[in-house]
Amino acid sequence: MTPSTALGRIQPSATLAMTSRVLELKAKGVDVIGLGAGEPDFDTPDFVKEAAIRAIRDGQTKYTNVDGTAALKKAIVDKFARDNDLTYTPDQVSVNVGGKHTLFNALVATIDPGDEVIVPAPYWVSYPDIVQFAGGTPVFVAAGSDQNYKVTPDQIEAAITQKTKWLILNSPSNPTGAAYTADELRAIGRMLERHPHVWVMADDMYEHITYDGFEFATIAQVCPTLYDRTLTVNGCSKAYSMTGWRIGFAAGAPWLIKAMAKLQSQSTSNPCSIAQAAAVAALSGPQDFLGERAKAFQKRRDLVVGMLNAIPGVTCPTPEGAFYVYPDLSGVIGRTTPKGELLDTDEKIVGYLLDEGRVAAVHGGAFGLSPALRISYATSDDLLRTACERIGEAIFALR
Ligand code: PLP
Repeated sequence: MTPSTALGRIQPSATLAMTSRVLELKAKGVDVIGLGAGEPDFDTPDFVKEAAIRAIRDGQTKYTNVDGTAALKKAIVDKFARDNDLTYTPDQVSVNVGGKHTLFNALVATIDPGDEVIVPAPYWVSYPDIVQFAGGTPVFVAAGSDQNYKVTPDQIEAAITQKTKWLILNSPSNPTGAAYTADELRAIGRMLERHPHVWVMADDMYEHITYDGFEFATIAQVCPTLYDRTLTVNGCSKAYSMTGWRIGFAAGAPWLIKAMAKLQSQSTSNPCSIAQAAAVAALSGPQDFLGERAKAFQKRRDLVVGMLNAIPGVTCPTPEGAFYVYPDLSGVIGRTTPKGELLDTDEKIVGYLLDEGRVAAVHGGAFGLSPALRISYATSDDLLRTACERIGEAIFALR
């Protein structure tokens, strides 16, 4: 027996691989600071935990409806109305085992061999792999630091062919933190009106983590003409610090929601009943702590952006959201370590920073735009300060 052809088309997640490497090093007693994981360091709020405990006590411990309980679908409908001015009905809502599973279901349920999916780069690591697993082809459109990591309507239009099925828009972005304004989304929407066969997958996972008064917008909200062909994806992982609970969801066309449920019925069945009860509490409970957490992230962003930009050779744009920065390493590439190793790729720079600086980040190549690295600043101010000092010292030691 050998692994399948479909499996051969994908790679293990680079970010999860770095997280495992950090855990291994820590287990060996190495004092390494992990800035690789895409996970808030805040705890799940107590009122969410309490709802899960109540659900266990009340016997909500059995199979549920495949793509979400009626209570959670209602909470999601209310969430989209409250936060995004979007009107959906429960038959337009799908609940899945984390946002990654939502995207997986939607792509696998709609892609035929040869179909193309436009993926702006830098991209979240899983998009191309899921598209390839489904038999499709990711078509990359690159936006560097010079355009604040945001693609333009013209760039997207140049990539559209008759085979294009989806455009994936992730705002705020993992890995850059860049977020599209309502006007930028409207401009993309106007262009897409000329291409009615292209659907939009709006990955809004970081909706609640934005800075400096940035007003989050999602494309189905600001371009009503695209409502029927947009799947609006969101989840509990990042906003509510619920990465381990595995609840993601999406809203869109009823036929697509049904297709996703059909696939899910033959794979995971329903998401965990207890996690669904917790998600109802998260989405319907007090939301004021979201703003407080975003403020704490903004302080860390300012600290990290400031310290990184003070390192010669490193250029770090200031992101509008999420908890990542994506410094450009053009000024570091091609330099030599004190041991004589030529750092001619960002993967080697990241390896050097891990070995000599004891700081773990993820290289830009994993996200489709080099030379760069992604730093997740979802950790304490003290650790971030020490990590940036270590990065600075390690880079200063290069020739
Ligand atoms: N989309 C983006 C842009 C992400 O960064 C992530 C998680 O890293 C996900 C989706 C998936 O989130 P989940 O942990 O709910 O599967």
